[in-house]
Amino acid sequence: MTLTDTKSTGAITKCIRCGTCCRKGGPSFHHQDRVLIEKGIILSKYLYTIREGEMSYDNVQGSLEPATSDIIKIKGHNDSWTCLFLDEKQNECTIYENRPVECRVLKCWDTREIEKMYSKYRLTRKDLLSKVEGLWDLIEDHQKKCSYGDLKRFLDALDSEDKDIVLEKTLAIIEYDRRVRELVVQEAGLDPDMVEFIFGRPITETINMYGFKVTKEGDKYLLIPKTIQPKTPNQNP
Ligand code: SF4
Repeated sequence: MTLTDTKSTGAITKCIRCGTCCRKGGPSFHHQDRVLIEKGIILSKYLYTIREGEMSYDNVQGSLEPATSDIIKIKGHNDSWTCLFLDEKQNECTIYENRPVECRVLKCWDTREIEKMYSKYRLTRKDLLSKVEGLWDLIEDHQKKCSYGDLKRFLDALDSEDKDIVLEKTLAIIEYDRRVRELVVQEAGLDPDMVEFIFGRPITETINMYGFKVTKEGDKYLLIPKTIQPKTPNQNP
């Protein structure tokens, strides 16, 4: 694609479909996009959820912030930030006519419109799934047992006097988060590609944002802070 749509100054004044914004992460969904998911135009297996309280990059503030509600997003290509719907060879959106509202309002040369709507009217799992009996109860239970508020509180207290108790509670959250994903796939037959939409990204991955890493030794999880040796419950300091 050429830059024939730029003025003599070289500044872009309209969308030249260069795909740069599509490579910086897929859009978040808003209420206007609900129909795209409900009508199956965009399948939920192509989506993932950033859960309330989870650290996420706020494009407007330019910093990592805890999400104030669910943020439903399009997955990336092979673990990259590039939107799954970008045809990288052709540099084209494969769902252009049905692209979400953020893609429609984003003008890289003038971001005022997207800044106004960016954090408003976000679509949540509750909007989409609260009427799905059984599944919604499971989602609420997971959100309660694996809340990012609790996780952060426990991680912050790992150096306190109660560190053994706090470590056990942290590992219980990690284990519940892992187990519920396994159960819905193995026992309820859920498509594994749907799991990150239903339960968000696995805590074993998102915990990196809190300065920890999780590894497994046999059946036991080890929580590894950036500069300290692996911790298991009841391990001596
Ligand atoms: S949906 Fe289309 S326009 Fe929007 S980020 Fe993905 S590829 Fe780009």
